[in-house]
Amino acid sequence: MSSEKCPDCEALVSVPDDAVNGEIVSCPDCGLDLEIALAGQERTVKPVVLEKEDWGE
Ligand SMILES: [Zn+2]
Repeated sequence: MSSEKCPDCEALVSVPDDAVNGEIVSCPDCGLDLEIALAGQERTVKPVVLEKEDWGE
């Protein structure tokens, strides 16, 4: 188990050692849904962006 910082509130978010790419974890502090992104040994979390149809097409 390791931890990454929530990009929103900087609370520590637990990331399981066996986390898979695209797995969703929730920040324990602000409740933000975060997607785990794996790139080699690097593990990062990024906010889940819900698709919105507001692109003005
Ligand atoms: Zn947070």
